[in-house]
Amino acid sequence: MKYDIIVLGSGIAGISIGAELSKELSVCILEKEKIPSYHSTGRSFAFYIETYGNELVRKLTTASKDFFLEYSKTESDSKILNKRGVTHLAQNNQINKLKDNYKDLKKINNDLNILNKKQTLDLLPCLNDEHLNSSIYDCNASDIDVNLLYSVYSKIFKSNNGELITDINIDKISYSNKCWSLDTDKDQYTGSIIVNAGGAWSDEIGTIFNAQKIHLVPKKRTVFCFKPDNNIPLSNEWPVAVDVDEKFYFKCENETILASPADETPSPPIDVQPDEIDIAIGADRISTATKFKFNNIFNKWAGLRNFVSDKSPVIGFDNKVKNFFWLAGQGGYGIQTAPSLSIISANMILNKSNKFYVEECGINIDLLDVKRFN
Ligand SMILES: Cc1cc2nc3c(=O)[nH]c(=O)nc-3n(C[C@H](O)[C@H](O)[C@H](O)COP(=O)(O)OP(=O)(O)OC[C@H]3O[C@@H](n4cnc5c(N)ncnc54)[C@H](O)[C@@H]3O)c2cc1C
Repeated sequence: MKYDIIVLGSGIAGISIGAELSKELSVCILEKEKIPSYHSTGRSFAFYIETYGNELVRKLTTASKDFFLEYSKTESDSKILNKRGVTHLAQNNQINKLKDNYKDLKKINNDLNILNKKQTLDLLPCLNDEHLNSSIYDCNASDIDVNLLYSVYSKIFKSNNGELITDINIDKISYSNKCWSLDTDKDQYTGSIIVNAGGAWSDEIGTIFNAQKIHLVPKKRTVFCFKPDNNIPLSNEWPVAVDVDEKFYFKCENETILASPADETPSPPIDVQPDEIDIAIGADRISTATKFKFNNIFNKWAGLRNFVSDKSPVIGFDNKVKNFFWLAGQGGYGIQTAPSLSIISANMILNKSNKFYVEECGINIDLLDVKRFN
């Protein structure tokens, strides 16, 4: 089977760049699992926060918004982004941190307010007022319908004759006549360019192709779900609550609280599972910060957020190996940045200009480029 592009990995990175490139080239996505987006993409908190991550990540997030809004219009009644807001909560001993964060966030995110204790409690009456001091409120933060986003990209990909092949094991790789050949347990796939969208496995994939290393560190993050036992009225309208030091966060969905201890435990690239200790830590922090009482955790999962040292994504052609393109290191922001990252990456592959992203969105592409690991 011969293609222009072979993408490795069918998470949001693989499907988004696959969709963008399929508009002009023949593209095949190869996925090692039986189910697409089985790893990080299927395990996220599904949230869009323009005030999250470093400055570059925040610009990439904002630059992705138009895509989310545009495709929401064409998809029946559903919207990809559904506004609910986020509050960055400070307790009495976290006021300096709140002020520092506000100063930093204000540099590029204007639509922010500091709320006093009463205003914060009006938005989130479930909080424990004993510990709360104030919060930063970002009214633009939204739930992301990840399934809808994935299906938008899948539709674009399929309508352009893109092929997604799951349950693939690569046995042998060779490169000759400007073409990669991948011998797999199913077939031989050849392509001019390989895109490494392997999530937590990106460095391992790089090694197989003899590419450079980006020293990616997968970090485990846990999510658990509970229904409070003490009849606290719950609301889907509540903003997400995030501790200003990111020691926990939670949101309410259909009478259920989805919560995280915001753990960041380094892990090898594996099918990671939640640890009881992380859930206990998260439950303790959330019990202290709120009025919730709960004993029964009825659902839990963990996934990997993959970071390089500067916590910015990594895109671009490898330094060592020809026609090997990286799309990795999206950390905890890979869903909310997928539209801008995939278009910028596709433009690099297609030799097209990224002027809009540089000049209008203020994105310094050198800070994303894999060449920074030279
Ligand atoms: C708990 C949690 C909460 C998060 N919350 C958010 C959030 O609210 N908002 C947000 O924007 N982001 C969030 N993230 C981050 C986001 O989920 C990731 O950044 C994003 O999913 C990364 O996508 P990916 O396609 O790079 O990786 P993945 O979805 O992991 O996809 C990589 C794929 O590559 C495949 N693969 C690996 N090796 C090979 C190979 N050799 N051959 C073929 N295929 C291979 C894997 O099987 C996998 O399917 C969260 C992550 C976690 C874990």
